[in-house]
Amino acid sequence: MANQRMQAYYDVLHRTPKPIGFDGKISEIFGESVFHMGVMQEYLPSEAYKSMKRVVQDGTQLDRKMADQVASAMKDWAITKGATHYTHWFQPLTGSTAEKHDAFFKPTGPGRAIERFDGDLLVQQEPDASSFPNGGIRNTFEARGYTAWDPSSPAFVIDKTLCIPTIFIAYTGEALDYKMPLLKALHAINEATVDVCQYFDKNVKKTTATLGWEQEYFLVDKALFNARPDLMMTGRALFGHASAKGQQLDDHYFGSITARVTAFMREFETEAIRLGIPVTTRHNEVAPNQFECAPIFEECNLANDHNLLLMDILEKVARKHDFRVLLHEKPFAGVNGSGKHNNWSLSTDTGVNLLAPGKNPKSNLQFLTFFVNTIKAIHDNADLLRAAIAGAGNDHRLGANEAPPAIISAFIGSQLTDLLDKIEKNVKAGKMTPEDKTELKLNIGKIPQILLDNTDRNRTSPFAFTGNKFEFRAVGSSANCSSAMIVLNTIMAKQLKDFKVNVDARIKKGDGKDEAILKELQKLIKESKKIRFEGNGYGEEWVKEAKKRGLSNLKDTPRALQVWGDKKVAKLFNDMNVLSPIELEARQEIEFENYVYKIQIEARVIGEMAQNFIVPAAVNYQNKLIENVRGLTEILGAKAGKEAAKGQIDIISRISKHLNQMKEIGDKMLIARKAANQIEDMEKKAIAYCDTVRIHFDEIRYNVDKLELLIDDEEWRLPKFREMLFTR
Ligand code: ADP
Ligand code: MG
Repeated sequence: MANQRMQAYYDVLHRTPKPIGFDGKISEIFGESVFHMGVMQEYLPSEAYKSMKRVVQDGTQLDRKMADQVASAMKDWAITKGATHYTHWFQPLTGSTAEKHDAFFKPTGPGRAIERFDGDLLVQQEPDASSFPNGGIRNTFEARGYTAWDPSSPAFVIDKTLCIPTIFIAYTGEALDYKMPLLKALHAINEATVDVCQYFDKNVKKTTATLGWEQEYFLVDKALFNARPDLMMTGRALFGHASAKGQQLDDHYFGSITARVTAFMREFETEAIRLGIPVTTRHNEVAPNQFECAPIFEECNLANDHNLLLMDILEKVARKHDFRVLLHEKPFAGVNGSGKHNNWSLSTDTGVNLLAPGKNPKSNLQFLTFFVNTIKAIHDNADLLRAAIAGAGNDHRLGANEAPPAIISAFIGSQLTDLLDKIEKNVKAGKMTPEDKTELKLNIGKIPQILLDNTDRNRTSPFAFTGNKFEFRAVGSSANCSSAMIVLNTIMAKQLKDFKVNVDARIKKGDGKDEAILKELQKLIKESKKIRFEGNGYGEEWVKEAKKRGLSNLKDTPRALQVWGDKKVAKLFNDMNVLSPIELEARQEIEFENYVYKIQIEARVIGEMAQNFIVPAAVNYQNKLIENVRGLTEILGAKAGKEAAKGQIDIISRISKHLNQMKEIGDKMLIARKAANQIEDMEKKAIAYCDTVRIHFDEIRYNVDKLELLIDDEEWRLPKFREMLFTR
């Protein structure tokens, strides 16, 4: 083969779909690798089972004796599933999951051993994971970090290992992970929601935040992936000219799925189903070789664990099928990037979805209460939501005409807009007349019928109401949903708490309950109006309009992250008991650092690839042309030869031009990087990387991509977009 790229391409052309191992009924394997309540009932003595039920349902503590029994049952069950090891499975701030495996096996004497796993090992461990980011909370000299069992998310067996979902905390108690603050935020939202629910139904004792994520990803053949150092190192193609055909024909979206991809999907879905992840939806996405997978929504903490698990399974199964999965937000310039819509709602233990418009006036008022409060929470904390989705990868999507802009706004549809407008105008100061009430109630009563015809969609909004839930669309495909869910649930908890206080005050002053609620809602509708936007979020006009309205447009990660430093934000998270000021500061530091490293790695890879792949290819081809020109002038004489070689000479000089420009800007970037590396302060360093290093990427790429078009296909060693995106 002429080169690495062509060898890779040849390999791809000869692939066939892998056989699918499982051929039975999905319903029979659902959750079979999970230590769920059903299994516990079978494996635990009844007293222990009852305590576990209380732990899972009400969040009570499990005593040590019970923990021993649960551990022993868990181990017995896991061994029947082939497990030999166990691990605490946690979510450090690196963004992925972590595990450290230990064997059940324990030697008891010469040639003798038992399988051991007790309550202590289940409940708490000290993995000494001192290399995870901690933002300065944990001094590495006292590198003790603990993992502690989260019984609300069931243990599961994967690859012969029993995995126990845990939180990860410093020895001083601060969270070093995503799970602990999420659990705290969920606790806060539960309390606040239950309190507000009492206005409508005294039977509500517990509420749940629900999350339904939609995971987008790309598939690339592993041979092509391995021939691209940029994909391997950074998850995205740093160079590469767009292929002649991209997504303009829309022929991939919802198109039929090829046999090789289907085989891959069926296998990972089977794995997911075994692990209790209720995946139901699969389809081709907009960009070529882009796909989506979505489950039925679940309780937020569990749904998030399931998403992390799914990302893991995707990677593992993809390798088996000779694919690599790309979870990066923007692997390929010129076609759509990947997101992870977070569908979110609140439901009660009485079986009510609080964001579903009800059938009668009472449930409609309840719906409106939660609906309007959500909008107000978004309005008051738009910058925080923006910070929650910030990351080097997502910067390529937001505001790039394919994903919602970096401006946070909420879309609610025309019927609800009308309704809110009416309430805003109609609720009179002072007491409402009976006519007012009926009119309003009638209006509200009309919502369900109208909304059932739920065609009112706006794909360009970052935060859209979609009939019975909100859809936060700006979350990045590689993100841990916790970042977004911690913020959303915390700000909503705060908003509902304030709402309760204000409504109670109105009632105390003599308003009837409904009246007090409506008047408070009217106030919130007025105050939050500017966050509502029904138009095209991709348009230039919106950027101008948003500016007029005073909405932020934080275009890059470092600017978005600055909001974590606000005193108001620290107070909010502290008041809601979700993150202490120290934890918040540490998180911000880690995210700045993360950004710096990502851009630094990209800059290095750009430098190496330019030097080791692009320059040699360009020079080789240029030499071929030079040889040709020299030959022509030799045969035809200087003048006629040059005339005959006009085309070649033009290419020679264009190659030189682009090579020189590439080199010149590359040198500038190197100097900027060295300067940025001298900066100690992480925030300043992140800004320097953003403003002085990253700004050169596009121009370097422009020249490289021009060279790709100029140079002999056989000299080009990097798989091209047409190969990576269209072969499968
Ligand atoms: P789409 O957004 O593609 O039109 P759907 O409206 O069917 O698709 O739902 C998308 C996602 O929303 C699914 O993952 C689904 O589980 C989730 N979802 C539906 N209802 C809720 C809810 N009450 N809470 C959270 N997620 C929900
Ligand atoms: Mg969706």
